[in-house]
Amino acid sequence: EPELERVAGLVRDVPDYPSPGILFRDITPVLADAEAFTAVTTELAALVGEADLVAGVEARGFLLGAAVAVVAGTGVVTVRKAGKLPRVAASRTYELEYGTATLELPADTVARGARVFLVDDVLATGGTAAAAAELLREVGATVVGFGALLELTALNGRARLGDVPVHALLTA
Ligand code: IMP
Repeated sequence: EPELERVAGLVRDVPDYPSPGILFRDITPVLADAEAFTAVTTELAALVGEADLVAGVEARGFLLGAAVAVVAGTGVVTVRKAGKLPRVAASRTYELEYGTATLELPADTVARGARVFLVDDVLATGGTAAAAAELLREVGATVVGFGALLELTALNGRARLGDVPVHALLTA
């Protein structure tokens, strides 16, 4: 699709960030471009289907998730890094390459039985998305799909999501 090709051209490769040997994909220019942001939001919103709620992963997933939720006509919930929420419904710690990270869900946002579409900017190893999905299931929700702007296919992160349908608008 021509518009997505243009979107792909807005992603910037940043070598040696956040550490030597890592090639970071900076998607912030996509969000800053009006047509690109509209295009990716529209494409992701089309995948929300029958979901009741969109969940966005901190922090760029908040921007995409909120926009997707408005277009899809759902509410949005924040999957936050630890220590930011006044009341926590569930918390999940997962392994990073070095150390661990913790994600938390706010209280009184996700009803038991809710069908949730999970959104993030980049799918890399899949550890973040898998932890976010487990967190949502812990409060009784069903994760009906995961949508990312960009999937780094060599890392096979989608395998970590089990039978949750994984959609990526761009691959690298
Ligand atoms: P994973 O847990 O390894 O799949 O990493 C995905 C999480 O880290 C997402 O929340 C992304 O925002 C972030 N991330 C990992 N690699 C990149 C990248 O190259 N560009 C932007 N974000 C990244």
